[in-house]
Amino acid sequence: MTITDLFSQLSEAYLLIDPDTQTLILLNPAASVILKTTGEDFTKTECWKHEIIRSATSETLPEIQAVAFQNQHLTARYSEINDANQRYIAVNITPAIPSEEALHNFFNIVDHLGAYVYCKDNQYQYTYANQQVCELFEREREEVIGGTDNDFFGEETGSELQKIDSPVIEAGHTVETEELNFVPQFNEYRHYLSVKKPLINETGEITGLFGISTDITEQKRVQQQLHTSEKQLSTILDNVGAYIFIKDKARRFQYINRMTEQLFQRKSDEIVGMDNFDLLGPEQGEEFDRTDRQVFNTGKRVNCIETFATPEKTFYYWTVKIPMFNEEGEIDSYIGISTDITEQKKLEHQVRESNDQLQATIEEINILKDKLQQQATHDPLTGLFNRRFLEEHVELSFTDPSRGPTSLLMVDVDHFKRVNDELGHKAGDEVLQFLATLMREECRSNDLVCRYGGEEFIILLPNTPLETAFQKAEWIRIQYELKVAAAFPRAKGSSISIGVATSPEHGNSFETVYQAADKALYMAKEQGRNRSIVA
Ligand code: GH3
Ligand code: MG
Ligand code: MG
Repeated sequence: MTITDLFSQLSEAYLLIDPDTQTLILLNPAASVILKTTGEDFTKTECWKHEIIRSATSETLPEIQAVAFQNQHLTARYSEINDANQRYIAVNITPAIPSEEALHNFFNIVDHLGAYVYCKDNQYQYTYANQQVCELFEREREEVIGGTDNDFFGEETGSELQKIDSPVIEAGHTVETEELNFVPQFNEYRHYLSVKKPLINETGEITGLFGISTDITEQKRVQQQLHTSEKQLSTILDNVGAYIFIKDKARRFQYINRMTEQLFQRKSDEIVGMDNFDLLGPEQGEEFDRTDRQVFNTGKRVNCIETFATPEKTFYYWTVKIPMFNEEGEIDSYIGISTDITEQKKLEHQVRESNDQLQATIEEINILKDKLQQQATHDPLTGLFNRRFLEEHVELSFTDPSRGPTSLLMVDVDHFKRVNDELGHKAGDEVLQFLATLMREECRSNDLVCRYGGEEFIILLPNTPLETAFQKAEWIRIQYELKVAAAFPRAKGSSISIGVATSPEHGNSFETVYQAADKALYMAKEQGRNRSIVA
């Protein structure tokens, strides 16, 4: 019997290698079973061949080598055999049995994985449970093994779990699912993310399942809270009386609230992704884009008034655009808040218009007031001060001695009745106007010329002594006589008479000086008219 024959019949798994040619001589049937390969295939698996032959032909043979082939962990033992004319290396391979320590470490890791790790058989009974599972169930591992989910979670959750497990155990599917389990120990429902895979034995039968579950209750809660906050926020944003929108750096809409949807009469998912020009065309697009660019260029909040023109009317908006920054501090979007101020604008316009109207009215009133003032203090025919003004303002000139002598001329047209009769009342008026103009021209600016009534006038001459007053009276009288004929040829021969009196000589009040002047005038008439008489 040759060495090769001998090894062929051995029930242990052996490979025979020729160290000189570095080739495989034999892969015996037991080795074929373990390696799940024939000798022919084996030599083709370069990696394996290389590894095992390298070890077999090294200077000193490794006693034991752990090797991996098609995911199997194997142990290889090498021995050298010297036949008469041939040298062999015999490699005995056995499935690797993990060491106590390795196993201990492995289970230790599984126990502290932070996940629930377990195996169940095809009767849905636990065959393995890590520490965390035992702690959840508040049982010793021995008590968990052999139990079912009904025993630990109760009937309701137990049957739910069986529904999830059954496609794995019955049909060999891999299931990844979220579970909501009632945990009696916590007296509450908790969320788990579970991955369950079938356990399959050497002959391909499903013997149960292997599962890993993670408690995601907290994440779920946070998710829920986030969802609630988002819902609250969107409720606020949709019901606040403002247009709210977010745009990215390319000035494309990222978000619009419901009011903005209504404004543009388009749904949010249509508008999101559009830029100003896509949505509104070149002109209106530019109106909004201008301030959008300003936000991104300056990185600062922009407050502005924007207009939105529709065929029917132009809307005005007060808009605030607030930049938003990413973690690197770069501006990546902005939030815009717009309120419709069209009504305010309209009101503002109305107010401005009423203001203008009011201003015009005030001006009119002022003009009227001046007119009234004029009417109250002036004679409408001659434009001279009227009697009322004189009497209201004149008194101080006579009672205040520091003002010096004040003279009073009392002027009356002679036979005026005749003028009226001969020339007509209208011409009479013109003669009176002529006389008024003449007196004003011949008097100083601070002299007061007043129409006292009918064809009777008073001239008040401040700071003028009697003598000077008389001269002034005579000058006026002569000027009238000369000039009236030129102006009214038919009034030729018309004359005036003047009574002259002075304070303090003739009294210290308007009344007394007036009486004196009146008396002097009367005397002038008596003595034949066309003259001035001093009281
Ligand atoms: P005497 O020389 O004595 O002053 O004579 P007289 O006619 O001027 O005197 P009298 O006082 O009797 O008449 C004054 C006239 O003046 C009477 C009146 O019709 C006229 N008269 C008064 N006021 C006006 C006026 O505003 N316009 C005109 N046209 N006439 C007036
Ligand atoms: Mg008179
Ligand atoms: Mg007269």
